[in-house]
Amino acid sequence: MSYMALYRKFRPQTFDDVKGQDHIVTTLQNQIKSDRIGHAYLFTGTRGTGKTTIAKILARTINCENPQDGCPCMECAMCKSITAGNSMNVIEMDAASNNGVDSIRQIVEEVAYPPTEGKYKVYIIDEVHMLSTGAFNALLKTLEEPPSYVVFILATTEVHKIPITILSRCQRYDFHRISIDTIAARLQELMDKEGVQVEEKALRYIAKAADGSMRDGLSLLDQCIAFYIGQTLTYDNVLKVLGAIDTEVFSRLLRHIINGEITQCIGILEEIITQGRDLNQFVNDFTWYLRNLMLIKSSDDMEDVLEMSSDNLALLKEEAQMVDTEILMRYIQVLSALSNDIKYASQKRVLIEIALIKLCKPQMEQDISALNNRMANLEKKVEEGVPVVMAAPQAQGATPSAAPVKKEPLPAAVKEEVKQVASNWNAVLGKVAPNIKMYLKEVTTVTTNDLGELVLIFDQPAGSERMAGDFVNRPEVLDEIVAAIEGMIHKTVTIKVEINSSGVSSQNTKTDVRDYFAGLGIEIETDPE
Ligand SMILES: [Zn+2]
Repeated sequence: MSYMALYRKFRPQTFDDVKGQDHIVTTLQNQIKSDRIGHAYLFTGTRGTGKTTIAKILARTINCENPQDGCPCMECAMCKSITAGNSMNVIEMDAASNNGVDSIRQIVEEVAYPPTEGKYKVYIIDEVHMLSTGAFNALLKTLEEPPSYVVFILATTEVHKIPITILSRCQRYDFHRISIDTIAARLQELMDKEGVQVEEKALRYIAKAADGSMRDGLSLLDQCIAFYIGQTLTYDNVLKVLGAIDTEVFSRLLRHIINGEITQCIGILEEIITQGRDLNQFVNDFTWYLRNLMLIKSSDDMEDVLEMSSDNLALLKEEAQMVDTEILMRYIQVLSALSNDIKYASQKRVLIEIALIKLCKPQMEQDISALNNRMANLEKKVEEGVPVVMAAPQAQGATPSAAPVKKEPLPAAVKEEVKQVASNWNAVLGKVAPNIKMYLKEVTTVTTNDLGELVLIFDQPAGSERMAGDFVNRPEVLDEIVAAIEGMIHKTVTIKVEINSSGVSSQNTKTDVRDYFAGLGIEIETDPE
């Protein structure tokens, strides 16, 4: 018996079978029913979300001899020949392999001839962003005045690479990532059809790993079934096949990190490597685990959002009590950076070890979130009555620097640290005297330059009174701002004041981590007052 991949076998043939793209299906069906079919469609979205599948269903429906309520009948000659892939009316082209102007010219020539059967010639161009500039130009002419019997469907994962001239001539449809629920439900439906026994938890894990792509979900499920033919597919088996790790391991790892036990953390990593688990997956899953902890901490009714057994949930709630949200955020930031770094690295293990040490030893880092982590550790020790020993090399900063005193000269901050200061500008404002703060509030943009200086830009159009910038630019004022920053990061910085009198806002060049997080709906509290 020949085996057919699930995603081919169960590729949706009608709109009803398409899952998770209701907004697109409804619009297209309405167009078909009211006979207002467009001549150029652009389907964009991540891989495996149904772009070419819907393109083919659309091609079949508009050519169907008796469409029923916006769906192809699947019985007529046109439906049958398109499904079998031998209709002259549906022309598929992969722009990744035919990106030259000649391929498009050929299409442009063919377009001149009406279809010999059926109503529409449908050209599906996949990965259309790969077309050369010449090819786009050749296509543009046809898109400007397409014959009434032609429909173009352009599909792409990278819509920003499509020239605006092409975009403006297409109806654009954005395909969503498909939710874990929708993927899991579809997988369950297909497993019922196939008569395969699967644990629900196993399917949810696969659906999560598919990361919004139905095709990936089906491929992963295929892999797992192939390993355990004739058996019930369990959660544990899925973890084994996909090289994933049980949450129990993450729970142990987190406890060691919280206690700063580097040796035990490295020991767990060793276990994982010995088991031959995939290290990228390990980092992603651990990040996801911490994200779940953060959700549990942030709200009481998050349990529905989290996909896990009640046992694991109880464990997770216990762990959530042990660690502060800010610290979790720092962990997640360190791991996200790690996840990027190890993707193509050959020494994945070393990079993960470094990250684990970073997580265990916040005193090795200088940035604000690490400082928060250190503060929290100290507070915990004080609460527990443990005598605090300052082991960190930069520990002299533990006494608050209220009055500027003569100190040893501090090392200069590196550019990355200056950037951190710029993105936590409000924390600096909280440290300076009120009269200086008043003027500093007039700063339009805080940024850094190539010399690693902290640049304060005052937007003061020519003719306006140049008060604030001039005030701040006095040596005694600059000294006080530098002292405030030194009190925070234990390094010194050079401040450069710039007056922007061009009348054009300097804001566009502003880089602020806070804005980034604000965009994600996360507010960062850095001002210790
Ligand atoms: Zn039909």
